[in-house]
Amino acid sequence: MAEPTDLAADLAADLAANDTIFGRILRGEIPCDPVHADDRCLAFRDVAPQAPVHILVIPRRRLATLAEAQAGDAELLGHLLLVAAQVAREQGLTAFRTVINSGADAGQTVFHLHVHVIGGRPLAWPPG
Ligand code: AMP
Repeated sequence: MAEPTDLAADLAADLAANDTIFGRILRGEIPCDPVHADDRCLAFRDVAPQAPVHILVIPRRRLATLAEAQAGDAELLGHLLLVAAQVAREQGLTAFRTVINSGADAGQTVFHLHVHVIGGRPLAWPPG
């Protein structure tokens, strides 16, 4: 897929517009490398993979962070995790890690909730 030319500038513009790169991917305005799509979510390969398999699962309805999720989001959050496991299975992963960074200090850079699915190499613990 085409890489953003300037990720930092894109992220700054998104923040100003209260939009995100993932919103633009969902609207088809920028390309992605999809591995799963349904009526509630989209899963695609991370543009800067941290492992041989690195996929992001994102809800179509925007939640900025996990911290802002409400009780009414329970079914959607459960669906994202089930899709994460399905995608990992389809990628042939027998072991994998799911990560949801919530908040800038936790490493979140795109403020549209996403589940990282990472695998294909040994993964150390604790993370950085
Ligand atoms: P986080 O740091 O948890 O917010 O994760 C954001 C992830 O989005 C990072 O792993 C980025 O590499 C990834 N990312 C940013 N822009 C794109 C894009 N256009 N297509 C795919 N992945 C992206």
